[in-house]
This record gives sequence, C-alpha cells and structure tokens, in this order.
Amino acid sequence: MAKSILVLAEQLRGGISDITYEMLGAGRAIAQALGVPLEAVLLGSGTSQLASSLGAADKVFVADNPELDLAAPETVAEVVKTLVDKTGADIVLVGCTNVSLGIGSILAARSQMPLVNFCRAIKVDGGGLVCTSQLFGGKILSDVKLADGRGIIGVYPGAFPIEQGRSDRTPPTEAIDVSVQPSKIRFKQYIEPASGDVDITKQHVLVAVGRGIQTQDNVQLAEELAQALGGAVCASRPVIDQGWLPLTRQVGKSGMTVKPRVYLAFGISGAPEHWEGMQNSQCIIAVNTDPKAPIFDGAHYGAVADAVELLPILTEKVKMRKG
Ligand SMILES: Cc1cc2nc3c(=O)[nH]c(=O)nc-3n(C[C@H](O)[C@H](O)[C@H](O)COP(=O)(O)OP(=O)(O)OC[C@H]3O[C@@H](n4cnc5c(N)ncnc54)[C@H](O)[C@@H]3O)c2cc1C
Repeated sequence: MAKSILVLAEQLRGGISDITYEMLGAGRAIAQALGVPLEAVLLGSGTSQLASSLGAADKVFVADNPELDLAAPETVAEVVKTLVDKTGADIVLVGCTNVSLGIGSILAARSQMPLVNFCRAIKVDGGGLVCTSQLFGGKILSDVKLADGRGIIGVYPGAFPIEQGRSDRTPPTEAIDVSVQPSKIRFKQYIEPASGDVDITKQHVLVAVGRGIQTQDNVQLAEELAQALGGAVCASRPVIDQGWLPLTRQVGKSGMTVKPRVYLAFGISGAPEHWEGMQNSQCIIAVNTDPKAPIFDGAHYGAVADAVELLPILTEKVKMRKG
C-alpha cells in the first residue's frame, strides 16, 4: 500500500513548466485512487513564490536555493532521495524533459526503486500501478506493472492534460534545508533559441506540410490557409531539410511537440518520428493522396486528395465563411 506520491516540480527561468501541471494532474488521479496524499517538491531560486501555484498538491516542499537552479541530475536526485527517505514517498513522478531527464535513473539507482520512463498513461490496478511506456520513439507501447506499487515514473511531456494539475488553492509549504554537494556538471548559461519566428507550440491552429507539398512555392498555399484560419504553418522534417521553412517550424522527434486545437496535415505520411510531435493535438485532419498513408490510422478526419489542389479551395471557403 502506497504511503504518498511525490511530484518533482520543474521550473525554468522563473516559471513553472507545463510538465509540472501534467504530473500534478496525473498524480492527483493516482493519489485519489490509492487514498494517499499528493506532495510536490520544488527546487531552485524564487521557489517560495512559485510554490503557491502548485495547489493541486496537498503539500509542497521547497528548497529556495540558487545552487539548485538547473542543477545537475545527480544533485537533484540526491535532494529528492533525502526527501523520499524522510517522507516515505513510494511513487515519484519526474518529467522526461530536457531539464529533468536523467534524474529518474540516478534516483532509481540510489533509492533501489524501479523506474519506468516515457510514461504516456498510468492506471491503478489492484494495489499496483500499470504505466504505459513509449519505446522506440512511439513505435511500441509497453504496459509495465509496478507490482508492489513502488517506483519512479518518468512522465512523457504532453501525455497528460495540464488543466487537471492547475488549482486556485494555495498549498501548505514546508521549507527543506538541503546541503548541495558540488557537482562536476554545472549549469553555465541559458542560450535562447533563434527568436523572431512564430512559436508553433503556442498556436491553436497549425497547418502542417510534408514532402507531399512538392515545391517551396506550394508552401505559400499553406501560409495562406494558416492566415485565413488565424494559425501558423509548420512542417515535417523533409520540408525543413530542404530549407523551405526554418527549423523552428519542425514538428516531431527532433523538432517541436505541439498540441493545437486543430492540426491540419497536408502531404504528411505519419511516420512515428512526426507522429510523436503532434499526436496530442485535439483534432487531427489529414490530407493525403495515398489512402493507405499511416497518418489516417490516427487522424480524427481524413481526406484522400491532392494537397496542392485542395489548399487554395479550403482557403477560399474559410475566407467566404469569415465574410
Ligand atoms: C532520428 C530521427 C528523427 C526524426 N525526426 C523527425 C521529426 O522531428 N519530424 C519529422 O517530421 N520527421 C522526422 N524524422 C523523419 C521521419 O522518419 C520521416 O521520414 C518524415 O516524417 C517523413 O516526412 P513526410 O511525411 O513529409 O514525407 P513522406 O514520408 O515522404 O510522405 C509524404 C506523403 O505525402 C503524400 N503525398 C504525395 N503527394 C501528395 C499530394 N500532392 N497531396 C497530398 N499528399 C501527397 C504521400 O502519399 C506521402 O504519404 C526523423 C527520423 C529519424 C530517423
């Protein structure tokens, strides 16, 4: 029987990251099913103020210490282990993000707890937990049972709704005093990605183009539809590799993860590496000339049609509708 659930809250540059709310929402559902408290731990500078936005947790442990800002995974793992030893938390949720990846495995080794990484779903099964882990970039989903209900769960970003982890409630906090051991790895500088372009992760509507768009000139057809819909254009990797759009517009494994309300995919086959970056879109509409294109297996709506022919017709229809 689990004692408590601990979420390792993630903050970046003075703000709580979305993954934190995803984990709090997922953690709350498990805590409710198991009848145990949900706690969070927040490390870094300014944590005292940020902790107030973690009201989905029953309690937040805070270590307000600039030495813990983007600290090395081994340093964070040590702090979390100390807390796990103190509270007896037997389920720990950690984000599989660029910031937190690596912490879970060190924590698992040091605390002798099993680790399941890249979890897209978690369900309570009897007294234990079944975690659906994504392997090989999404080609395989594996259900892993944490038999005695104890373990570290690496949460895949974008897999759980953010809203369920948000709360207006101010949680009780407890300051924790931690001694930070010097690490061989130190955070030196945050390098901003190239700016000046649209942030596709913040768009409600995305018009995505793949190799099926055929020419650079045809990308303009997608731009026009995106403009009419109030969205932005993004692309699969071959389009970026051709230099038809900047890297900031690439969706997928080696690009951005997006979750718009509507994702229109024109001439995209639906390779796992692309699917990985857009599968959590609320509504996926695919247009492809090949009725057997894999994207149709996951899309909510699909049309077997020529993207180059259909794009201007759609733009025209949207403009007419908008008057
Ligand atoms: C390590 C690694 C990382 C990767 N990361 C990414 C990533 O981040 N993002 C990404 O996208 N890919 C990534 N890839 C590449 C990925 O495997 C695919 O090759 C890529 O997603 C395919 O892009 P596509 O669907 O545009 O092209 P294709 O697979 O060539 O598909 C083109 C589609 O267009 C259709 N088509 C052709 N003409 C038309 C037309 N006139 N109208 C409508 N449809 C038409 C075809 O039927 C076809 O289905 C990665 C690969 C690796 C190995």
